[in-house]
Amino acid sequence: MNLGADTGAAFAYSAPRVFDGERILEDYAVIVENSTVTDVVPSLDLPPDFPVHRRSDCTIIPGLIDTHVHFMRWQGAVFLAYGVTSIRDTGNDLRWILQRRKEWPKQLWPRILCMGPLLDGPSPNHPVVARRITDLASATTAVRETVAAGVDGIKLYVGVDPGWMSAMARESHEGGLKISMHCLANGVLAAGRSGIDEFYHLDGILADVWPDHPSGWLEVWGDPDFARTWDRQLYVADAARDLGMTATPTLAYWESQWRLRTEIGASSEERRYMPPELARWASAQRDPAAAVRWRRALDAAQKFVGLLLERGVPVLAGSDTPCGGILPGQSLWRELSLLEEAGMSPEGALRAATSDAADFLERPQLGRLRKGQCADVVCVRGDLSKQIPEHPEIALVIRGGDVYRPSELLATAKADLWQDDPWARQFELHWSRRQGGEGGEEKG
Ligand SMILES: [Zn+2]
Repeated sequence: MNLGADTGAAFAYSAPRVFDGERILEDYAVIVENSTVTDVVPSLDLPPDFPVHRRSDCTIIPGLIDTHVHFMRWQGAVFLAYGVTSIRDTGNDLRWILQRRKEWPKQLWPRILCMGPLLDGPSPNHPVVARRITDLASATTAVRETVAAGVDGIKLYVGVDPGWMSAMARESHEGGLKISMHCLANGVLAAGRSGIDEFYHLDGILADVWPDHPSGWLEVWGDPDFARTWDRQLYVADAARDLGMTATPTLAYWESQWRLRTEIGASSEERRYMPPELARWASAQRDPAAAVRWRRALDAAQKFVGLLLERGVPVLAGSDTPCGGILPGQSLWRELSLLEEAGMSPEGALRAATSDAADFLERPQLGRLRKGQCADVVCVRGDLSKQIPEHPEIALVIRGGDVYRPSELLATAKADLWQDDPWARQFELHWSRRQGGEGGEEKG
């Protein structure tokens, strides 16, 4: 499927707009040689006989990085088709995901970074993909052993006792890794004070802004009284910034909760590349009355993200795919579009999925188009300096110098590849429990 130059020969991709990871350059060309970007120059500076693929209808961007994913093999080609050339897995079976990370260069998958299992308390929500912790000693051991296994970051889950967090953060930092958390009952600020670097999904701030909130979960943000917490939200945003925290709000997940309950649900395009099990579950969530509340919750979450941006908290783009029944890649574009609505400029939203993500993940060769960077390059139709498309038309995807057409990638997508992946087993466990009336939650 390699459509580019012969291996070894330099080849240029030029367009009226090139987003280099930081800003839009007018009429530039990206020169790729083997698996590396060797230069980014004004198109006019290319020698007349230089081999060039000119895309006059496109914006060229670095390959996108989805910073919050739970990887399953069926997702790989779909991610790539939407221009996502790197993902960070934020909770999976340790041995399984390390094996997938080793395999990605030989597969039609994005490059994979991973955090191992969800390190969770004594009764993990997602037992298939979690490591159970019962006390302080097992908490530090869990971090030490996960670091030693060679992961790229540490992820704590909602059941971690606040009394263990400082020791876990210290252990992770001593091992050279950042530590991230899905905060819930104990709030985001307690995590920040313990040294946690990043918080996911925003729902943890409920405990900080509205300690006696009505029972419920993300949808409590749709409660009309939530607006009264505005001053506290402002305080939390400032405190999170002062604690040096980064936020990955996964608004696409929030939006999915609304969409699943409306008539809209997953689009036919989304269903086409989604395992039938997931599509079936998604269409069973319809509940128009609850949808109204979820829509208000999404609005409140976007307002809070606007506040984070205004107060200077770094915000990264992550989708939480496949939770919420959202499609790999497409969901990251939706995230960028939601971040733009929340107050980011189109360039700011692109940075959240490129250079800002690469900086946070300490992967200096990703997220930018510059001399010496990985040749992860995407041609997207339209002018992205004006607006981020929710449904992008991707013309070409280059991962590590290999060139792919999205239609060909999608033709290889294997939606039936579901069984045996840890998250398939985890979903099925939730669904069978729910049928048995036990409830359960599908967000990782
Ligand atoms: Zn997750």
